Amino acid sequence: MTIQDYLDFVKSRNAHEPEFLQAVDEVILSIYPVLERHAEFRKLKLFERMTEPERLISFRVNWMDDQGEVQINRGYRVQMSSAIGPYKGGLRFHPSVNQSVLKFLAFEQIFKNALTGEPLGGGKGGSDFDPKGKSENEIMRFCQAFMGELARHIDHRTDVPAGDIGVGGREIGYLFGAYKKFTKEFSGVLTGKGIGWGGSLIRTEATGYGLVYFAEYMMQNIGSSLKGKTCLVSGSGNVSQYAIEKILHLGGKAITASDSNGFIVDESGITQEKLEFIKDLKNNRRGRIKEYADKYKGAVYQEISLTADHNPLWKIKADCAFPCATQNEVNEKDCHHLIKNGVKLLAEGANMPTTPEGINLLIDNGVMYAPGKASNAGGVATSGLEMTQNYMGTYWTQKEVDDKLHQIMKKIHEISLAAAKEYGKPGNYMVGANIAGFLKVARAMQAQGVI
Ligand code: NDP
Repeated sequence: MTIQDYLDFVKSRNAHEPEFLQAVDEVILSIYPVLERHAEFRKLKLFERMTEPERLISFRVNWMDDQGEVQINRGYRVQMSSAIGPYKGGLRFHPSVNQSVLKFLAFEQIFKNALTGEPLGGGKGGSDFDPKGKSENEIMRFCQAFMGELARHIDHRTDVPAGDIGVGGREIGYLFGAYKKFTKEFSGVLTGKGIGWGGSLIRTEATGYGLVYFAEYMMQNIGSSLKGKTCLVSGSGNVSQYAIEKILHLGGKAITASDSNGFIVDESGITQEKLEFIKDLKNNRRGRIKEYADKYKGAVYQEISLTADHNPLWKIKADCAFPCATQNEVNEKDCHHLIKNGVKLLAEGANMPTTPEGINLLIDNGVMYAPGKASNAGGVATSGLEMTQNYMGTYWTQKEVDDKLHQIMKKIHEISLAAAKEYGKPGNYMVGANIAGFLKVARAMQAQGVI
């Protein structure tokens, strides 16, 4: 089969799912040489099987708002692959959630989880529920209603969800409480739990910290470091906050943050004190990033339009870029701006934030590019560490977890580079990460027979 045959096969079955097709395209382009080399993988149709969810659950979520009006949302869980462990992947609550978005995320999750070296399968879930503007009680009632259905499809050995966009520590708390009540079971069925009731230290920080550890290894690989480098960060949620923090720890300077309305540029750098303001603004007060520029007079705020042909945030001059908000937030035009300004590295904190045309442009122009499935794997890896602590009935110290996270990111960096080199694309992290993740899952599927 040619690459086009594989694409046609997946397209014929998922014609109306553009995000899912985009994610599959990227992977098949990278792993085709592996399929050419391994007739046994082709015969067993391993790639085709990976593109079909093992199970896809879609359900109604009814709940009552504060005005007493009944609301109807749609919930999902995509159980994509259990070849190397229980399904694992976050829950996203955002109005843009649909089957295509969750299938792309679940598909990416298969390879990301394999890269971590932990026994984690791939899954993803969520709802088109929009937490913005909802009261605390409405969020709680929604989480309880959502878990009312999801609880019958998950447990700590089968499928272990976590947070994602719109699902942070607060939502995990409500979801966990509901699961416990429905099932009479106190178990590690969710990760991202609070400290003191099963949560792991460093889980909150892990995706952002891991991203920056990975970027530091990329810089070291060319004899450099993040020290003294100016960095663009998009988003202002969980991943962005801890990416900014770790950039600071390593001596770099983050100068931007954003939300879906606009972004701030602070040329003097986001210090720890200013970062604490962002954390409080976003995590406790649910405010908008615009308020940063009201508080810190040296900073400038600019609105962004989600329908514009480029995002002016990526026009700001810097050495490194860390897109940490959402999918397809960096397009070809944005990449032209980044390249023109001499950016040396783009490492993805979000999932699939760069469009395929943008990625090609970056790589062709010698910008080091890290795909999210490698560079943001620290979050799920630490979720895996949380699961291990739950199974063992123990807690590890902050240092123990952080050291393990560091080692995992180092290993992902190494195996991605090694696979890229073996398949004739030295330095190409996208090809390397896809191949290394694919090989691990493929071998497990091969061993387990046609099921
Ligand atoms: P949060 O909900 O904490 O933050 C998301 C941020 O992105 C917010 O600043 C939000 O702004 C912004 N955003 C969301 N949608 C859009 C949009 N359409 N356009 C512009 N900005 C947008 O989510 P996380 O930080 O957890 O997740 C961010 C990304 O990282 C996602 O792609 C997620 O899949 C990925 N990721 C997360 C992991 C984790 O452990 N949390 C693990 C691995 C990947 P606003 O406040 O306006 O909504």
